[in-house]
Amino acid sequence: MKELFKDLVHLVGESAVLGEAQELAPYVADVRGRYQGDAVCVVRPRSTEEVAQVVKLCVDRSVPIQPQGGNTSLCGGSVPYAGERGVILSLSRMRRIREVDAANNSITVEAGCVLAEVQRAAVDVGRFYPVSLGAEGSCQIGGNIATNAGGTGVLRYGNTRENVLGLEVVLPNGTIWQGLRALRKNNTGFDLKHLFVGSEGLLGIITAATLRLHPLNTCHLAAWLAPVSIDAAVELLGRVQSSLGPRLTAFEAMNAAQLQTTLQHMPGQQSPLDPALPWHILAEIGDASDEAGLRTSLENLLQTAISDGLLSDAAVASNEAQRAAMWTIRHSVTEAIKKAGRGVNHDIAVPVSKIAEFVHRVGPALEQRFAGVQIVIVGHLGDGNLHFVALFTHEAWNAFSDPQAVIDEVHRLVYGVVAELGGTFSAEHGIGRYLLAEMRQYKSEVELALMRTIKHALDPRGLFNPEKVIPQ
Ligand SMILES: Cc1cc2nc3c(=O)[nH]c(=O)nc-3n(C[C@H](O)[C@H](O)[C@H](O)COP(=O)(O)OP(=O)(O)OC[C@H]3O[C@@H](n4cnc5c(N)ncnc54)[C@H](O)[C@@H]3O)c2cc1C
Repeated sequence: MKELFKDLVHLVGESAVLGEAQELAPYVADVRGRYQGDAVCVVRPRSTEEVAQVVKLCVDRSVPIQPQGGNTSLCGGSVPYAGERGVILSLSRMRRIREVDAANNSITVEAGCVLAEVQRAAVDVGRFYPVSLGAEGSCQIGGNIATNAGGTGVLRYGNTRENVLGLEVVLPNGTIWQGLRALRKNNTGFDLKHLFVGSEGLLGIITAATLRLHPLNTCHLAAWLAPVSIDAAVELLGRVQSSLGPRLTAFEAMNAAQLQTTLQHMPGQQSPLDPALPWHILAEIGDASDEAGLRTSLENLLQTAISDGLLSDAAVASNEAQRAAMWTIRHSVTEAIKKAGRGVNHDIAVPVSKIAEFVHRVGPALEQRFAGVQIVIVGHLGDGNLHFVALFTHEAWNAFSDPQAVIDEVHRLVYGVVAELGGTFSAEHGIGRYLLAEMRQYKSEVELALMRTIKHALDPRGLFNPEKVIPQ
């Protein structure tokens, strides 16, 4: 391994290869502190050509490669296993914005660009890059693409997949696929970029992307709403969509337990409405028209919803600071849960029409089975996607003699209902290592065999992000 280290330094320079334990520490542990891995070193190339050279060298010597972006994966996808003797290939030094083409509504960026930087670069030319999520200050475009990240803008603008026009990828054999096209139409055989969107580092290294930009809304209105129940929240969503159409850009839900947990563990935040109300929605409306007209339409709609008994209260942000404060609460939920206890997390999606049934069936069943468990729910209701957490206090968790058996039982219960309702056990976070057993259980043999065939065709020696995503 000393030889490998020396040859990597020879290829990319000393400062690009990290090998000391304290240097490796932030790269081998995941963001929730649930997985701790090992690696020979971290390599941080500065160009696509350097990535290709590193890949060739590692593959020639059968060294596993762990692609890594911002390391914000919530399913253990971005860190190696304990005992792994491979290389972490970090894109963090590839942060150039290569081109912004405002007339074409597109931007070409290197994979290591942090999502928030890309959002800002779009605004600088009067455009909008719509993918937005709690980790946007540290997750990278390459990681977003490799996980097909969702977030809060999916309702209006789609997942990352819908916002990728072209890709540049270093394939597992070290060749560079140059697919950085900025076209909306191009029916010339298989659309290969889709193979790499959501590939979770199994099929090569994404080194750059051309992304779709959108018009920049000049007016944004955020509203904090308190529907009387989850059923009322779903009905309200339909009403807002019918009335405001694509101007509705986000419809985020959380239950009282999630809001209270966030207020308790993330000091300095204030709920716009009584936090004891059972459900809370953060809705955002965006448009290029005048704010006064939009505000009137929204307020009329909310007034009717209150009269009809769907909403018990509502608050429309009256300035940018109030709007930002609402979003801060929404973006703090993951950190708050981490502080509050040990959560058994689920990132599920069901058809929107089945969301209420899911909540009514799963919450009470878990409460009956595990005394003291707290059901904490937050999610992108407009997409049918809930982050559903069975939260235990640290004391309760430590008292379990077999915590893995608890996780398995909770998963079985939740995913069983999800499957009955025609849903998915991973809506946007991906599979990583966390959901390998569910892949085996819920994906058909036909799907798994196809995935194995594709993986084997590109990475016959199984060196890229080994033993993740596809169960053997
Ligand atoms: C607070 C918080 C909020 C979050 N909210 C959301 C949310 O709303 N929606 C959502 O979808 N996710 C969310 N996430 C999860 C996470 O941020 C996303 O999955 C994100 O897209 C990961 O990007 P990353 O750069 O951190 O990738 P990493 O975590 O580094 O890697 C993720 C996967 O992509 C692979 N990968 C990374 N870069 C490359 C590359 N250049 N080429 C090939 N493979 C690569 C890795 O091997 C790994 O399998 C959240 C996470 C946190 C901590």
